[in-house]
Order: sequence, then structure tokens, then C-alpha cells
Amino acid sequence: APEKEKTSNVAKIKVVVRKRPLNKKELAKNEEDIITVEPHSNSLTVHETKLKVDLTEYMEKHEFVFDAVLNEEVSNDEVYHETVEPIVPIIFQRTKATCFAYGQTGSGKTFTMKPLPLKASRDILRLVNHTYRSQGFQLYFSFFEIYGGKLFDLLNDRKKLCMREDGSKQVCIVGLQEYKVSDVETIMELIERGNATRSTGTTGANEESSRSHAILQLVVKRSVDGSESKPPRVVGKLSFIDLAGSERGADTTDNDKQTRMEGAEINKSLLALKECIRALDNDQGHIPFRGSKLTEVLRDSFVGNSRTVMISCISPNAGSCEHTLNTLRYADRVK
Ligand code: ADP
Ligand code: MG
Repeated sequence: APEKEKTSNVAKIKVVVRKRPLNKKELAKNEEDIITVEPHSNSLTVHETKLKVDLTEYMEKHEFVFDAVLNEEVSNDEVYHETVEPIVPIIFQRTKATCFAYGQTGSGKTFTMKPLPLKASRDILRLVNHTYRSQGFQLYFSFFEIYGGKLFDLLNDRKKLCMREDGSKQVCIVGLQEYKVSDVETIMELIERGNATRSTGTTGANEESSRSHAILQLVVKRSVDGSESKPPRVVGKLSFIDLAGSERGADTTDNDKQTRMEGAEINKSLLALKECIRALDNDQGHIPFRGSKLTEVLRDSFVGNSRTVMISCISPNAGSCEHTLNTLRYADRVK
């Protein structure tokens, strides 16, 4: 069937690395940029400075190849073009797709992720209103976060949510506010509102957002034979996940018990995520989603003809070398 051929043109898993520029603080400290990007071969090299026993310095090079490598000059429009744009049309063909931003705190996850749902919505609405005009498609928007293994609605006063699975193995988040949307202005407002709710969490510190996974979902539904009495059915889903700072998973030896527990939860969810994405690639029957809340919530996005895009964000400065290598090794495993 032509439909099937079209969806199979889009890679099941795509791993893209984005390097941000040195920031003012790093420039002021004269920090070195240790990442060289070769966009044409989709590769990058990390130049790590190491010390010998006699304390003389030497350089160790680490080279990685991914599906795409984006340097500090690449715009958010180009990031969209490279990652989410090819996926949008297949959402109308019963496909679930997920785009993750992974990386240490301050590497550019939110900067990268924030514009993507808006650009995707614009394209989805164009398909709803033009290409598939009068075919009963509708777009729905929701935004929630996972913090300490619990779900909170970012568009409804951080209301606590729970999750269950319905008869047809669809994940259902009980009580989650879903907004039916038909213009990009409304979508922009919802994104702003959700992001603001996120970063001003309980302590009001930006620190909070690095310990939570933010999940924004665009769901395309369709009314069954134009009937208003039956609820519309889910056709496809596009999820955008701004993951917790990857370095937070290492907070498992912190003095503070709360921090330690959160660190353990983050560590568990990032490991489970990696396993689930790999299972998707191998088409194996068993998907190890039971490891964490994150993967349980995304369970129906790890089956069959699902698509995954992982955007790994990296900081260029020498001081971030270890975290950068960890991020690249994680991305390498997913690939
Ligand atoms: P994270 O969400 O991973 O903690 P942020 O997205 O908040 O990181 O980025 C940290 C800072 O770096 C922000 O001030 C952001 O505006 C800036 N930044 C990140 N990526 C880029 C980029 N590609 N170009 C310019 N500034 C960036
Ligand atoms: Mg962030």
C-alpha cells in the first residue's frame, strides 16, 4: 500500500547532536571550545585535555558519528527541518512519534525544544485545514511534567495526574487537560504558560526544571463519520520531551535525601528510555518500559511503526568535557 511506503521513508530512530556556542560567562573565563564539528561527514571530535602522572598535559581525541551533527551556527529553523519536519505528515497515518532533548543542564535542551512544537503545529494545522480539509481531523494540545516519578499538569495549576491503560493499549492520563487548538497564537500561549509553570515550580528556582521531564503532546484525532455524538479517535501523536538534566542522574550520593531519590529516579528513567528506544530499533517483542514513569507514559509510542528523534545537546566548553562525553556515549548507544 502506498501509505505504508510513505511512512517507511522516515527513519525509525534518528540521533542528532547540537552544539551550542560558548556563552558570555565561558568567554569571560577564557574557556576553550573543545568540540570540532564536521557537518559533511556528520561527525564531531571532542578534544580532551588529560594529565600524565608527571602532571604534563596531553590531548585525547574522541570521534563520534551520528545521523546529523549541528554546529553552533545552526538556527532553530534548521533544527526543525532536520528533526521534526519529516515526521509531521506521518502523524496522519496512524503513527506515534517522539522527539527528545537530552543533555546536561545548560546545554540548550529547552532552547532547542521550545520552538519545535509551534513549528510542528503550524505544519499540522496546514494539513488539517488544506490538504485534509473537511476530513474531520482535529488537533489537541497537552503539557505535563514528570517530577520525582509523579505527573503534574502544566496547564492546570500543577494538578497531580495518574496514568492508566485503556482496553486498546492506549496510554490514558486521567484528568489531563487537553486543549482543542486551531490556531498557532493559542498554541504559542499554551507553550509559554506551560514553560512558566514549569520553571517556577515549588521553590521558584530554575533549578527545578532540570530535575523534571516536560512532556508536550500534539494529538491528531478524527471524528468517526463526522458524528458529533461519538468522541473523536486518536489518529497519531507527536510528543516533545524536554528531559531532566542528564547529570542529575548522578545525584545518587548527594547528602540530601530528596535530591538522592530524585537522582535515582532520573537515572532509572534515562536508562529505561535508552533500552526502550533500542528495543524499537530491533523490533523485538519485549519493550522494557516498566522501568520508569517516563517510559510507562510513553509506552504506546514505543511500539510498531513508531518514530523517535533524539536531539543530544552539548556544551562546547572544556569544563563540561566529562558531561559532554557522557551525553555523546548515551547518544551513541541509542543510535
Ligand atoms: P537546558 O534546558 O539544557 O538547561 P537552556 O536551553 O536553558 O539549557 O540553555 C542554557 C542557556 O544557553 C540559555 O540562556 C539559552 O538561551 C542558551 N543557549 C542554548 N542553546 C543555544 C544556542 N544554540 N544558541 C544560542 N544560545 C543558546
Ligand atoms: Mg531546560
